[in-house]
Amino acid sequence: MSENDQKNKRNLNFNNSPQNRKPALFYFFIIFILVVLGNTLLVPSIEKRSVIEVPYSEFLTEVEGGDVSEVVMEQNEITFVASDEDGNRQIYNTGVVDDPDLVNRLTEADVVFAKEIPTEASPILYFLMSWIFPLLIFWALGSFLARRMSKRMGGGNSPLSFGDSKAKVYAKTGDSKTFAQVAGQDEAKEALSEVVDYLHDPSKYQAIGAKNPKGVLLVGPPGTGKTLLAQAVAGEADVPFFSISGSEFVEMFVGRGAAKVRDLFKQANEKAPCIVFIDEIDTIGKKRDGAGFSGNDEREQTLNQLLAEMDGFESNKGVVILAATNRPESLDAALLRPGRFDRRVPVELPDLRGREDILRVHAKNYIMANDIDYNTIARATSGASGAELANIVNEGALRAVREGRQQVSQTDLEESVETVIAGYQRKSAVISPKEKEIVAYHEIGHALVAAKQLDSAPVHKITIVPRTSGALGYTMQIEEGEKFLISKTELYNKLVTLAGGRVAEEIIYGSKSTGASNDIEQMTKIARAMITRYGMSDTFGMMQIETQTNQYLGGDTSLNVAPGTAERVDQEVMELIQSAHQKAGEIISDNLNKLHELAHYLLVEETITGEEFMKILED
Ligand code: ADP
Repeated sequence: MSENDQKNKRNLNFNNSPQNRKPALFYFFIIFILVVLGNTLLVPSIEKRSVIEVPYSEFLTEVEGGDVSEVVMEQNEITFVASDEDGNRQIYNTGVVDDPDLVNRLTEADVVFAKEIPTEASPILYFLMSWIFPLLIFWALGSFLARRMSKRMGGGNSPLSFGDSKAKVYAKTGDSKTFAQVAGQDEAKEALSEVVDYLHDPSKYQAIGAKNPKGVLLVGPPGTGKTLLAQAVAGEADVPFFSISGSEFVEMFVGRGAAKVRDLFKQANEKAPCIVFIDEIDTIGKKRDGAGFSGNDEREQTLNQLLAEMDGFESNKGVVILAATNRPESLDAALLRPGRFDRRVPVELPDLRGREDILRVHAKNYIMANDIDYNTIARATSGASGAELANIVNEGALRAVREGRQQVSQTDLEESVETVIAGYQRKSAVISPKEKEIVAYHEIGHALVAAKQLDSAPVHKITIVPRTSGALGYTMQIEEGEKFLISKTELYNKLVTLAGGRVAEEIIYGSKSTGASNDIEQMTKIARAMITRYGMSDTFGMMQIETQTNQYLGGDTSLNVAPGTAERVDQEVMELIQSAHQKAGEIISDNLNKLHELAHYLLVEETITGEEFMKILED
């Protein structure tokens, strides 16, 4: 990275400076003060010279006494200025009396008299001051604010920035990531390396007339390394990296989200070539439903602005937009058309080798024992995401520290796998000996049934130490290798194994306990999927009965058959489960002695390994 680039990166603080940004309240306050001052200083000063009303006789007395200096005659009243007891000028008025001598009297007394009121404020002025003036001020303020707003909508960026977009765009500085830090996502890395190559040398592409991909959509379950990949692309290409989450565009006022989008692209264009990463793009990119009163104007405006900006910027400028989502099916079609997010890079859960690589990448940051078998850990964590694997390594390190060791050992990692799967050990939990025995029979029931079937994963560990997740014990099975296809027999055997726990309880105690609730849940899920999605039922064959709506997040399903069919499906699911239950019963009845022997051994040991288990079973 050249020194200049570094400086650029360091200076990438694109937050709009808050200087001169005063709230609207400030202006209202100033106007309020002005009105109050106007009212207290101007209007009362007119009124302050209060006029004292006196009878006509007193007026005559004052004139004769020589106290009156000025007189103003009106149609209905006479206003005059005389000095009061303290010798101060005071205005008086009195009613008009038909007095033909008045002019003579005034002339004799040498009084100045006229036909106007020199000191009284005009009622029009009064009206203007107390009503029209404030209204004018508020009108002026209103139109000023309206102008500001419209300027902002047009992208204005003025110092009096009430209503500025306040778009926060972060340029990640500090240690930049590389592809080497992303493990197990080889296909995604390959797809993205073209973007890196383009950012390195755009001229190569421009020479032949090729346009660069404007937008790349990273799709996959949470924690699979989408953000990490985007950072790595920026790191590899050595360009600035803007990162913003879709939810940051969500604003209360219509237009503000759109303004943020505008800001983001303006800044990105200034720093091109660069990478803009929008995480959780589904928050703003959801399908527009066209419903009249959906109340989603703001979101739609934001999305429209994003679409417009993506069309607007020149593709040869070197701004590449990466976006991540785990709900690709909910994205608006307009976002996905060519010229926008036309590239779609799947970032799936890692396979066995991927998991091992991820564990190794993260282990580099810790002091690990030399004899760690990452493959075993990877096999035990089927279905775990990169983020979970990173967490497992860290949990292992924390355990090593807790136990006062200098290195992370294999046991630490194995224990933290269990922590991630089932929660921490609940050493303090007090469980009665009777219940412990039930749990032991239950777990050995699972293990025994698993071991006695051919197409079933080997037992790795059995424990009756309670966990914080609520499990009172569990049996861990680990597949030998990575499985991509599961046969009907294997799924059925899984059902039988799951039924094993409950069956053992029934045979030994003649009763049922709540301990099997999780097994029941899983059995029903598997049996349903076998019939509704995998076409493994003889009745329905290859008919899709349920559709998975959300493949990356939990996999909700929706039924797409008539109620009558649904009833038959339920019937089939029930029969499948019953048959599994029956088979488990047969296996356990055939091996009752082993069940007793193993359960008692487990009761004493609390945790036994797969090898110990097999040794006793095969004896
Ligand atoms: P996503 O954006 O897909 O939800 P992230 O990229 O934020 O996931 O991943 C979270 C963390 O998990 C990363 O910071 C990294 O430590 C770890 N991680 C995830 N996937 C991988 C991977 N393929 N290789 C190495 N680490 C990974």
